[in-house]
Amino acid sequence: MKDYIIGVNLPDSTGLLQLEEVLGRFVNDGFNACEINLSTFPMIIGGEVKPRVVDYVREILGRFPLRYTSHAGYGLDLRNLEELDMHRAVLFSSVDVCEALGIELLNLHYEVKTLYNEREKAFFEAHLEAAEYAQQLGVKLSIENIEVEHADKAADFVRAVNHPNMGMTLDLGHLYLSALHFGYDFMETVRSCAPLLSHLHINDNTGDFEMMRIDNFDIYKTMDRNYRFAFGRGDIHIPPFWGKAPLGEALSVIKKAGYQGVWLCEYYSHSFIPFNREVQERVRREIENA
Ligand SMILES: [Zn+2]
Repeated sequence: MKDYIIGVNLPDSTGLLQLEEVLGRFVNDGFNACEINLSTFPMIIGGEVKPRVVDYVREILGRFPLRYTSHAGYGLDLRNLEELDMHRAVLFSSVDVCEALGIELLNLHYEVKTLYNEREKAFFEAHLEAAEYAQQLGVKLSIENIEVEHADKAADFVRAVNHPNMGMTLDLGHLYLSALHFGYDFMETVRSCAPLLSHLHINDNTGDFEMMRIDNFDIYKTMDRNYRFAFGRGDIHIPPFWGKAPLGEALSVIKKAGYQGVWLCEYYSHSFIPFNREVQERVRREIENA
């Protein structure tokens, strides 16, 4: 039987001194890969790479038999024309950090398509240039759908850039919320996106869209996580198969489409430490039996 690469994301509250302990626990829980949000550690400051921090992190990553993927840090916005130079600097430095850490893939949010041609042009050009640059460094770019936008927009963007070094990340939790909120078919979208996939985020939620995400993002970001769990508010990233998204069916379609990447469980694993092993085992079993 084929060995599937099951991963989990590093909690973004992980300090440099806890990194070794957290990765060790992931290995003990049977995970094969870990995704690191690049703003977890101060590896980029003012748009520039800080080799001192990167070297420190690389040494610890190298101690574990894990494959690594990365998630672009918070706040990156290549549609921000007012501060475009800084956002581009962070994007390209993110690619550099991935190369230095031996990370094979950089995940980037598509976010929301605007009505402004100039912003969309800046977004397109930055990603096309970064895809070319990253290819030379052996880092793949992958564009992720977010729940506040129709997933087809991210897929269409990847098709339009049409670069061999750029694929799509399908976030199944985001897709579930978006499909219910905007009124389109979850499984149909999984099928149409499957051939584009370079990466996958597997997480769950209750399907209840959180309007605060659109109406007031600043308040949304301050909402207590356990409160949001209790009331099922929006994109809560609970463990796969703990919510209502039809994940089994989706994993089956993706497997049959020949997906070769990391099966990344993207959830708040810090809140579920005693159960992380069974989450890993459940996802692996679902894929194997699909
Ligand atoms: Zn995601």
